[in-house]
Formats: sequence, C-alpha cells, structure tokens
Amino acid sequence: MKCPSCKNNELVPVEIEKGLIGAGCTACEGALLSLIQYRYWLDHHDDATLEEQGEDVVAVDSEGAKLCPKCSKMMTKYRIGYNTENRLDLCAHCDEAWLDNREWQLLKKLDVHNKLPTVFTDAWQRNIRKQRELQSMDAHFRDLFGAPDFERVRDFKAWVDEHPQAVDIKHYITTNFKY
Ligand SMILES: [Zn+2]
Ligand SMILES: [Zn+2]
Repeated sequence: MKCPSCKNNELVPVEIEKGLIGAGCTACEGALLSLIQYRYWLDHHDDATLEEQGEDVVAVDSEGAKLCPKCSKMMTKYRIGYNTENRLDLCAHCDEAWLDNREWQLLKKLDVHNKLPTVFTDAWQRNIRKQRELQSMDAHFRDLFGAPDFERVRDFKAWVDEHPQAVDIKHYITTNFKY
C-alpha cells in the first residue's frame, strides 16, 4: 500500500498509540487506521496509558482529495470539530481513516480520540456546520457593533435568558422596539 498523500511511499506498520497499530508513512508521518482495529483498541485500551498531550498541538492537514490506499476509491473528508480546520479522510468502503501527521494528537487534545466513528456521522458533521455558522454570525455582529457593545448586548441576552420572566421581557422588547 502506498501513502495516499505522498503517493509513492510504501506504508509500514506504525504504533499510533500504545496497542493501536496503523499503516504509517515515514515521509509525511501520516497513518492509515482501520476502524475495525480502532474499535478493538477502544474497547481494550487503558486511558492511563495514553501518551500525554500538550496544549500546543499543530497538526498539518494535507490538502486535496485522497484515494484509499486499499481500494483506490475516493476518500471522503470529515471535519473533526468546529474549532479546527483539520479534516480526516475516510474510505467508507474499507472502513479505513487517514490521519495526517499529528492529527491523532489533535484528536486527543480535542478529546474526540475516543469517539472516532461518531465523528463520521451526519449528525456530528451537521452540528459542526451549525456551530461554525453561529461563530461566523457572532464575528459579523462583533464587527458591526464593535467589541465593547457586542459584549454588552451578549451579556444582556444572557441575563434575559436566565431571567424567570424571560418571555415577558422579550415580549416587552419586541413590542417596544417596533417603529
Ligand atoms: Zn506520506
Ligand atoms: Zn478503500
């Protein structure tokens, strides 16, 4: 099997985490991970043996479409989380995921190393899209109002949401701010 990123480098067995073996590329340090192997590891591993993860993990996300090293079909990209640009490539046909260099460490930092099959579900991906839309909407209004006023509006909203008479306050605002 050749590396889907470097194309001509042969993949060799690599220990991604204690007891978790994948097919790694010595050039780009990416690794192909069988989800069958992963599920077995998930059921049998001991969290205490997990290698410690620093806060400053920088994982390089290789651009471009990848072909599965096993079956040569196009792999699908899945976002890991709303606060990172990194995406994992998955061959749904072979149930194999491609992790770029240090993406496993990134999964650990984001605490999703133990929910890998879930990351590849529509629900997970939909939630990420929703969170990212909310983030960009916040950024838009922050620019529009300026940071201090934006914070003030947000604090006010949080205060209303917590208030026992939230419904009445919102009613008051929407009727009084009409013009
Ligand atoms: Zn490679
Ligand atoms: Zn495949």
